[in-house]
Amino acid sequence: MTWVITRLCRDCVDQGCVEVCPVDCIYVYDGEDKSTFPNQLYIDPEECINCGVCEPECPWEAIFEDEQVPPVFTDDTGLNAKILDDKDSFSVPEVEEKPKPSPQQIEENKTKWGYSA
Ligand code: SF4
Ligand code: SF4
Repeated sequence: MTWVITRLCRDCVDQGCVEVCPVDCIYVYDGEDKSTFPNQLYIDPEECINCGVCEPECPWEAIFEDEQVPPVFTDDTGLNAKILDDKDSFSVPEVEEKPKPSPQQIEENKTKWGYSA
């Protein structure tokens, strides 16, 4: 079992999750293949200890336990696992303080990705 960062993170990447992960298993992609690995963060499923502390820290509500990933984000589970194919191209990002989204922005982001919850 692992946790998954879904596309709700894309281009949001405020990194609140990185700060709290006790095993530093949340990564950013540093490589050139941005079409495969878009601008979001990724959880290494082999390093994640399934503690769940990242989930409430995510202002965009982008993190799910793998068994709870909404069907519309199913592909994101595999995308997080794909980190294992090219681990050298990933690093733990420096945490930057960014403004928190408003409730309206959070809802708009979900709508953009076809998710309603
Ligand atoms: S806290 Fe959420 S939106 Fe921010 S980088 Fe982590 S997963 Fe992405
Ligand atoms: S569930 Fe725990 S170990 Fe896994 S990514 Fe989140 S904070 Fe890190």
